[in-house]
Amino acid sequence: MAVKRTPFIAGNWKMNLDHLQSIAFVQKLAWSLADAKHDFADAEVAVFPPFTDLRSVQTLVSADSLPIAYGAQDVSAHDSGAYTGEISGAFLAALDCRYVIIGHSERRTLHGESDADINAKVLAAHRHGLIPVLCVGETAEDLEAHGPSAVPVAQLRAALEGVDGSKGLVVAYEPVWAIGSGQAATPDQAEQVAAALRGVLTEVFDDEIAQATRVLYGGSVKAANIASFLREPNVDGALVGGASLDIAEFSSIARFK
Ligand code: PGA
Repeated sequence: MAVKRTPFIAGNWKMNLDHLQSIAFVQKLAWSLADAKHDFADAEVAVFPPFTDLRSVQTLVSADSLPIAYGAQDVSAHDSGAYTGEISGAFLAALDCRYVIIGHSERRTLHGESDADINAKVLAAHRHGLIPVLCVGETAEDLEAHGPSAVPVAQLRAALEGVDGSKGLVVAYEPVWAIGSGQAATPDQAEQVAAALRGVLTEVFDDEIAQATRVLYGGSVKAANIASFLREPNVDGALVGGASLDIAEFSSIARFK
């Protein structure tokens, strides 16, 4: 059964823009989208600023009723207590975050996050009503050794252990070799893996949840290639890194048609 999924265009700022810069950026992004007569029924637009920006972004978005969603780039697996440096999902929910990125390849490789850590974070996000934007993807070596979908499929299965699919989820397929490299996957490659990931969602949850869940592509997405990804039936949007820091570029990605 074909289900209409609202495309999701998400900007992962990584460790860029402080809280003052975030206010100027989100305000200008909203103007740019409004100027371009962006129809928010066509795509949901979200930004993922550093933790220290979230309160400023919340204040601006709620004061001006901006149609821009926001979330954090990570969350603790724990809810409170002696975890120096960690940020609880309860704190993110209190700032009206709707989403949280979990399992980005930079967390997996630079911070040693395992599949079990990522699973615990997905469960923590759900405890606080946050929707995980769960990242999976293979390295160039994985691609060579196992083909395109084996590693992302295994990562997704592991991350969903004991997860209640009715609590909401976005999956982002991000081949590690395509992140920040300027070398995006082809739309065909993205579609093949996105379809396999949707298959896992059917297997772990059910067809209804699998059809309702958005699967994004990420890795060197820009205005010039977004439309080619969104033409694929199983690709429902993009997780954008570098190009999300340029207001004109990001707002044209959000108007992908
Ligand atoms: P990129 O990053 O768009 O700069 O390749 C994507 C990401 O890391 O989410």
